[in-house]
Amino acid sequence: MVYLASKERYASMKYNRCGKSGLKLPAISLGLWHNFGGVDTYENGRAILHRAFDLGITHFDLANNYGPPAGSAEEMFGRMLAADFKPYRDEMIISSKAGFYMWPGPYGEWGSRKSLIASADQSLKRMGLDYVDIFYHHRPDPDTPLEETMGALDTIVRSGKALYAGISNYSAEQAAQAIAIAKELGTPILIHQPSYSMLNRWIEGGLQDVLDANGVGSIVFSPLAQGLLSDKYLNGIPGDSRAAKPTGFLQESAVTPEVVDKLRKLNDIAAERGQSLAQLALAWVLRGGRVTSALIGASRVSQVEDSVAALNNLAFSDDELSRIEAILK
Ligand code: NDP
Repeated sequence: MVYLASKERYASMKYNRCGKSGLKLPAISLGLWHNFGGVDTYENGRAILHRAFDLGITHFDLANNYGPPAGSAEEMFGRMLAADFKPYRDEMIISSKAGFYMWPGPYGEWGSRKSLIASADQSLKRMGLDYVDIFYHHRPDPDTPLEETMGALDTIVRSGKALYAGISNYSAEQAAQAIAIAKELGTPILIHQPSYSMLNRWIEGGLQDVLDANGVGSIVFSPLAQGLLSDKYLNGIPGDSRAAKPTGFLQESAVTPEVVDKLRKLNDIAAERGQSLAQLALAWVLRGGRVTSALIGASRVSQVEDSVAALNNLAFSDDELSRIEAILK
């Protein structure tokens, strides 16, 4: 089957400027952390990518270690790029990262210059790309000077292996320092990738202010709390859900009666708005325009469709917001 992208692909997606940069990102981006590894089905992943691109999702997020096994998501994505997306490379924003454990020995993780540059080269090879659009340092390294890590990102950009630099999982304080160093080097930090959802609001305690003050964009991962913020766990744990899968990162123990009670109440508000709970959760992280993009995952095509349709209702009344606050407290 030859893939031809839909002519309507830019008809309904919303694109947000990433901080004070020239780059726009789709309000919903797709991550390949789960469902694209060696343990997953190629054709299912391929169908998800096709549908996402047809719906205007131009941004695909990867990392060296995504799989399992580590590296296999980049390999699978590389096969799909070669088979289906060659004509569309300039319509795509592809990211990768290094920082978590990837290979044995002292250079296979964290934030040294050695580790980051070697990992970027490996990722490009696995994906069959000349460059990625965004290259991230995946997590802060307590032992490597930030100057070295930011210097490595600067080198990766200047050598043409990435167009922009990003950081992920940095605290407000660490982000402020990294942003200042990178600015001095002349390769500004484009974007921060933190976790954020209705069930995990740490970025509201300072990080968002740092990013706003510095004109840095944000793309928030696990906006559905790995699927918890959907209607699937309202009545138990379905066998085909992430919590039930042996390779999934979400543990069954996360589905507590307290969480389910909150989900039920949120689900009622979603229903009043004519939305699924997942759509409510996505609209909520995008409220107020402080987040550039919500970075979702999907195990099937219908989830991509459902999640993108969140954009049909992004407005919240004050009453809805305060009722949601009361539930989340
Ligand atoms: P989500 O919170 O969006 O969870 C995705 C999962 O939720 C899906 O796999 C599916 O699970 C379920 N789901 C998705 N859409 C729907 C829907 N509409 N209705 C019902 N269920 C739905 O994000 P992820 O946790 O997958 O993270 C997204 C991306 O963020 C990753 O792929 C990765 O790119 C990035 N990330 C980055 C990290 C970092 O450290 N920088 C860490 C973690 C993620 P199910 O299998 O149950 O169907």
